Amino acid sequence: MTDETWGNVREELLKTIGKNNFATWIEPLKFDGIDDGVARFLVPTSFFGTWVSRNFADRILTQLNRSGSGAQRIEFSVQQKAVRPVPAKTADLTKKGVIPQRASDEGETISAPLDGRFTFDSFVVGKPNELAHAAARRVAEGGPVSFNPLFLYGGVGLGKTHLMHAIAHELRQRRPDLRVLYLSAEQFMYRFVQALRERQIMDFKEMFRSVDVLMVDDVQFIAGKDSTQEEFFHTFNALVDQNKQIVISADRAPGEIKDLEERIKSRLQCGLVVDLHPTDYELRLGILQQKAEQYRQQYSALTLADGVLEFLAHRITTNVRVLEGALTRLFAFASLVGREITLELAQDCLADILRASDRKVTIEEIQRKVAEHYNVRLSDLIGPKRVRTIARPRQIAMYLAKQLTPRSLPEIGRRFGGRDHTTIMHGVRKIEELAAQDNQLAEDLHLLRRLLES
Ligand code: ADP
Ligand code: MG
Repeated sequence: MTDETWGNVREELLKTIGKNNFATWIEPLKFDGIDDGVARFLVPTSFFGTWVSRNFADRILTQLNRSGSGAQRIEFSVQQKAVRPVPAKTADLTKKGVIPQRASDEGETISAPLDGRFTFDSFVVGKPNELAHAAARRVAEGGPVSFNPLFLYGGVGLGKTHLMHAIAHELRQRRPDLRVLYLSAEQFMYRFVQALRERQIMDFKEMFRSVDVLMVDDVQFIAGKDSTQEEFFHTFNALVDQNKQIVISADRAPGEIKDLEERIKSRLQCGLVVDLHPTDYELRLGILQQKAEQYRQQYSALTLADGVLEFLAHRITTNVRVLEGALTRLFAFASLVGREITLELAQDCLADILRASDRKVTIEEIQRKVAEHYNVRLSDLIGPKRVRTIARPRQIAMYLAKQLTPRSLPEIGRRFGGRDHTTIMHGVRKIEELAAQDNQLAEDLHLLRRLLES
């Protein structure tokens, strides 16, 4: 097998295991020849070899065989490195390339690769994300730290990762003197575990404590992972003490992350916590228009009928990733069949996505989620008990049923153990009233709504 074949195998792997896994685990592999049916690879550390062998060996082997290499087995050996000097000062670390400025730098790259498309230019701003966007812009200026950390949270596909990459791009351009480190919480954990195994925990600490801007994506991942949390907490504190900027993202507010230590929650809440709200129609349309503009250049022969983008913005409300996927498919399909992109074509080609987005919230789901949230039994929620700890969640469920489903009050009454429609109306009003004064309740409603609509 030649290096070129390995190149092809890598491309296939990229398709099957995804960009993140590829960048973390396959990219660093060095192909070292094949003989007697054994394909040999050099890996940076033994932990790395074990991990790849456990998780990806089968797929690598399959691809190697597809390319006719005749490999039956894979072996990983640790690449001999020159003995490391004691990593004493931060400046030395930089010189050695341990802390690269750019993701593409050689050496033990610690920053995860950035997606070149995720810039501020390509980020469409609307009501649901304007605060998050403004806060991200501020951090990206690289001026004095005004809030620490910046905590961005919101549901899947609402642009958290996009904003974080945009900050990193911008900072690298404006302030090339700053060391900007972006990685997912998962990668933080892998690196930590790896450092433990390799007995390089001091290097690990040095490395993380010497960055100027630390961005950790999807921090909910480390919830329940005790030693990683502990290390994260220390890193976090050390950086805050040095007045270094930290940016964190998660799929929910700090207080809502289960199994996250209290002290971490409270530190995360110390800075600016901003929420990316679910998209609204205008934002979705804006994003579609921007994307369509790019596609028009790419597929200049295609025409897009009026009303198609509006139709999609109206119908696909789940998240931006799905929305983008729909448009991509639509353009690809239209160019294959050489037809104009019309409403009918969109309906045909996107039938599955449209059907999935059609999913309506049911009263049963609302009852189940509310019962779960307030820790009461479903049977009690529907039953006759009048104690406040049950009656209040019941009214909340009534309120959500009225808001989120097209059911009438009598219909809702029937699903709540045959109650009268006036009882439902009373419940709905009560919650409306309370939500206007009680922040906690308003937040609960917001959260439940999001859970139900996602
Ligand atoms: P999250 O990290 O919140 O799950 P991502 O940042 O990965 O979501 O966003 C999912 C996709 O949607 C990405 O391709 C991203 O570029 C796109 N996207 C999300 N919000 C916007 C926006 N406001 N403008 C343009 N693209 C967006
Ligand atoms: Mg993300």
